[in-house]
Amino acid sequence: MNIILMGPPGAGKGTQSERILDYCSIPHISTGDMFREAIKNQTELGVLAQSYINKGLLVPDEVTIGLVKERLSRDDCKNGYLLDGFPRTIPQAEALQVLAKEISRPVQLVINIEADKDELIRRISGRRVCPKCGNSYHLLFKLPKVENICDACGSELIQRKDDTLESLNVRLDAYENQTKPLVEFYSKLGLCKTVNGLQSIDDVFNDIQKLLDEVK
Ligand code: ADP
Ligand code: AMP
Repeated sequence: MNIILMGPPGAGKGTQSERILDYCSIPHISTGDMFREAIKNQTELGVLAQSYINKGLLVPDEVTIGLVKERLSRDDCKNGYLLDGFPRTIPQAEALQVLAKEISRPVQLVINIEADKDELIRRISGRRVCPKCGNSYHLLFKLPKVENICDACGSELIQRKDDTLESLNVRLDAYENQTKPLVEFYSKLGLCKTVNGLQSIDDVFNDIQKLLDEVK
C-alpha cells in the first residue's frame, strides 16, 4: 500500500500512523521525525532544519524533497510506504508524483484528517512526547500509565519546542496557505478521502480502516 496521511498539526497523524502500522506492515516515513532525529544528532541537516522548525516554519522544499527521495529509494519501500507529514506543499506533491513513479509505487490513497482550530490547540498544547522513542501522549486524552513517563521505554516525557502557542499559530498559517491546497490537488486525482478527526482515537481509526480495506 502506498499511502499519504495529511492534516493540520495536531490532527492525529502520528497517533493514527501507529494504528495503521499495526494493521499493515509498511515503512512509516515521517519527515517531522526524520528532522527531529537529525536535530538530536546535530547533523548538518539537523542544524538547518532546527532554524525553521522551532519557529514553526516549513523546511525548504529542496531539502525536504531530497530527504524523502533518499528514503523512498531504500529497499523497504519496494513494498509500499506510509508518508506522514509529506508532502506539505504543491512542489513537494509534484516531486512525489515523479519519485513514486520511479519506484513503481504510485500513491493509492491520501487520508486527510480534519479538525478545527480550537481542537488543534487543545491537542498540541497537551501533547507530550518521549525524546527517546518518539511515542506521543496527551495530558487529557492519552495518558501514560505512570505520570510523565513513557510506557514503552521509561524515559521522562517532554513538550516539543514547536508546540508553543506562538509556533503553533505560524504552523497553522503554513498549513492553511501551503498544505491545504493539496486537498484539491489529490481530490482532482481522485485519491483524497477525508476523515473526521474530531472523533475518539478509536473511531478515527475505524474510519481509516474502512478506507484501507478499499485499497488493500
Ligand atoms: P499530528 O501528528 O497530526 O501532529 P498527533 O498524532 O501527535 O498529531 O496528535 C496530537 C495530540 O493529540 C497528541 O497528544 C495525541 O495524543 C492527541 N490526539 C490524537 N488524536 C486524538 C483524538 N482523536 N482525540 C483526542 N486526542 C487525540
Ligand atoms: P511534524 O512532526 O509533522 O509536525 O513536523 C514538525 C515540523 O517539521 C514542521 O512544523 C516543519 O517545520 C517540519 N516539516 C515536517 N515535514 C515537513 C515537510 N514535508 N515540509 C517542510 N517542513 C516539514
